[in-house]
Amino acid sequence: MWKKFLIILLIFTYGCTNKSNNKVANINYPITNIGELDEEITSYVNKTYKKYKKDNLNISYKYKDINENIINISLTIKINENYKIKTFTYDKKKEKFLTIENIVRDVNTLDYNLKEQLLEKYKDINIEYLNSVNLNLFEFDDKNLRIFLNLKNINKDREIIHLDIPLNSLDLIIDKNDDLYLSLKKKNISLGDKIVAITFDDGPSKYTNDILDILKKYKASATFFVVGEKAYYGGETLKRILNEGSEIGNHSFSHKLLTNLTEEEFKNEINQTQEIIKNLTGFTPKLFRPTYGGYTNRLKEYTNLTFVLWDVDSKDWKVKDKDKIINNVVPYVKSGSIILFHDNHEYAVNSIEDILITLKDKGYKFVTISELLEYKKLMEE
Ligand code: ZN
Repeated sequence: MWKKFLIILLIFTYGCTNKSNNKVANINYPITNIGELDEEITSYVNKTYKKYKKDNLNISYKYKDINENIINISLTIKINENYKIKTFTYDKKKEKFLTIENIVRDVNTLDYNLKEQLLEKYKDINIEYLNSVNLNLFEFDDKNLRIFLNLKNINKDREIIHLDIPLNSLDLIIDKNDDLYLSLKKKNISLGDKIVAITFDDGPSKYTNDILDILKKYKASATFFVVGEKAYYGGETLKRILNEGSEIGNHSFSHKLLTNLTEEEFKNEINQTQEIIKNLTGFTPKLFRPTYGGYTNRLKEYTNLTFVLWDVDSKDWKVKDKDKIINNVVPYVKSGSIILFHDNHEYAVNSIEDILITLKDKGYKFVTISELLEYKKLMEE
């Protein structure tokens, strides 16, 4: 993105010094090569310069690609000791300027929340100012929508007042081009929440639909690592997994131990399953769970799929007992955990409901592996 940014962006700088009265104008603004947008910015800058050329004037800017179509530019205008903000948000594809109504679905709630925050922060705020709050001065960073309030009268320090609203608390209309980010938001998951990823290996089987029923009841997502040779018979189940917000991963074709396979044999195990899943559902898995958890770095180099192991093992196939399974899981779960179950027998079906209830009571939210990886990435940023 930076490369593109550098290519399309010429910075316009002009400094005028009038030595007789020591007034300086230092003006920087971007040229985007988008006619309508450049005109608007240039005209605003010229107007501001004409109006304040007798003062110390400083204009600086911030540029952000919100996604591949939408640009957000904010100008910070410093006139002597006072600050002002002007922002421009432009959709290249639709060729139009965007207002807050084009960005956020529920502007009324946003407005209400902002005023509430303002009242809390500035107890003596004048109600007229409050009602004149303009929501159309905004910029984005990766986590927040920042709304500027040019309400210098209520701020003794004459700073620009702004309020940050976490993006994942907003129902955004614009496409962030980031499906995982959106699916976390849809599931009401904010950074800091306790999350856990439940995984089921070795299906699909006749038990998979029972598990999906239970997941649905608790609005929980999971990830199913399917075995290629079984997937043939479970096309409808696989589609249901995806339709209900869960995820499918690859668990080889024939469930052999993989560590001794040649490169070709290993690639066949993976590629056949990728093909089957894609043909049945249209979805191409990005995740791979090695059979028996066995893998080598050599195998990892043979595929682009992400290898996914687990840190909590239900041992469901081994202990075959609901209470034992629950005891193998619940005490060991922490936020970010990946739990291993198997959906090719009845034991996971019998224990999963109690486990969902208990973890939900402890504040956990249930995500797919891809969502978990995205969440961890966002937490690191
Ligand atoms: Zn397995």
